[in-house]
Amino acid sequence: MSPAEILGAHLAAQALDYVQAISPYVTGKPVDEVAREFGLSDILKLASNENPLGASPQAHAAIHAFNDLNIYPDGSGYALKAAISKHFQVDAASIILGNGSNDLLELVARAYLAPGRNAVFSAYAFAVYALATQATGADAKIIPALPPTHADMPYGADLPALLRAIDAHTRVVFLANPNNPTGTWVTQAQLEEFLEAVPRHVLVVLDEAYSEYVARSAYATGQFPDGMALARRFPHVLVTRTFSKIYGLAALRIGFAVGHPAVISVLDRVRQPFNVNSLALKAAEAALGDSTFIEHSRAVNAVGLDFMQAAFRTRGLAVIPSQANFVTVQVGLPAGRVFDALLREGVIVRALGGQTDTGGLSCHIRITIGTQAQNERVLTALDHVLPALRASA
Ligand SMILES: *Cc1c(COP(=O)(O)O)cnc(C)c1O
Repeated sequence: MSPAEILGAHLAAQALDYVQAISPYVTGKPVDEVAREFGLSDILKLASNENPLGASPQAHAAIHAFNDLNIYPDGSGYALKAAISKHFQVDAASIILGNGSNDLLELVARAYLAPGRNAVFSAYAFAVYALATQATGADAKIIPALPPTHADMPYGADLPALLRAIDAHTRVVFLANPNNPTGTWVTQAQLEEFLEAVPRHVLVVLDEAYSEYVARSAYATGQFPDGMALARRFPHVLVTRTFSKIYGLAALRIGFAVGHPAVISVLDRVRQPFNVNSLALKAAEAALGDSTFIEHSRAVNAVGLDFMQAAFRTRGLAVIPSQANFVTVQVGLPAGRVFDALLREGVIVRALGGQTDTGGLSCHIRITIGTQAQNERVLTALDHVLPALRASA
């Protein structure tokens, strides 16, 4: 090692032990990188659950109309909070905005977790729960999910097991509904029973990043729980939502949470004063009001999800149940090998099994639902690479 490297390593070693122990989040592979690496031009990325239809034209218009680059954002997010308040029938004091909902998950961790405390969540949960927890030095209590052989919800969150895992040091439960990267969900009845039983001093973070993709009929019939209604009923529920998925604003980084005003006030104390930028505020407000775009996105996804699930079943590949904008499929081969082979075809998907708690998904890939043409392209690529990989396995 050079003197500079030695000095760097020494400085890195001064960081908190639990920070040094974190393995960084691996994001979806960027299109440009794959283009450079493989000399390909027409690349399809279905790896990060982005909206294949783009964003609302009204959001684009709001951004084009924006001029005040020299002015700080409205740190209170007044106009967007008013719009969210009206849209979801919640008080403005119950809302906090975040730089993506990722920001909100971290604010919860910073405000509620520390060494000696723990957060409880399911195996195969969203990777950020572990990262945000570990960054505070708290313990991540990762609870085994329902078994792959479960009749209704293989790999789903086991709510009774999560409940049993809550101990005197637990301050937070993280639960995504539907969950990423599995697509699985918990029902209204299951979640109500769970929330009734969770001690009221434990904050339940209900991450609804994909809720807009769930069929409206599932809400109407009381099958699928509406976090907004639960947050009104249960003071220990904090619902997080994002503009990154169906709203198509992932580039801008904006999300929000709804919960008890006292909890919101705590989270407000640990956020950056200007955590959400002006373009994001304007675009999100416009996007929230464009119900035509949202309904169209939901409808296109529903058709694509059915199509992809059926296509995999026809090919004898098991899919995990999903109500989100992606499907996770068991490919019967190490996911990394299938991922690499698909890259060479110009298709970027997500290989699972990379985190400590996702070993059980090491032969699963997660594919975002695209347009019909995109979905067909993934299937063609898979039909090309899977037989070859199987033959050489
Ligand atoms: C994508 C996603 C988010 C949203 O992340 P942003 O920071 O809002 O872009 C949150 N939770 C889950 C489960 C997700 O999949």
